[in-house]
Amino acid sequence: MVAGLENTKNSIGETKMYCIHCQGNLKSGKTNYVVNRKGYHLIIDDVPALICQQCGQPLFTEKAVDLVQEMIRTLDTRKAELNALPLMG
Ligand SMILES: [Zn+2]
Repeated sequence: MVAGLENTKNSIGETKMYCIHCQGNLKSGKTNYVVNRKGYHLIIDDVPALICQQCGQPLFTEKAVDLVQEMIRTLDTRKAELNALPLMG
């Protein structure tokens, strides 16, 4: 399953997925996953995704999004701990 995708069946009954932004064709590949949070910014290389052949917009699977969110949860906790450290000297 892919998050945020609409499934449409073509005339021969095959399920095809299209870009939710421009309706372009999606092709599986790998792309960077960029996370911008308050306090840190993260770029994860080579995340498997469906990539729009028309506008280049990546669509990530639910599993990929889950894993990234798990990473973010850990980072949020550690960043809060960092922020709470007393100043040196
Ligand atoms: Zn598109």
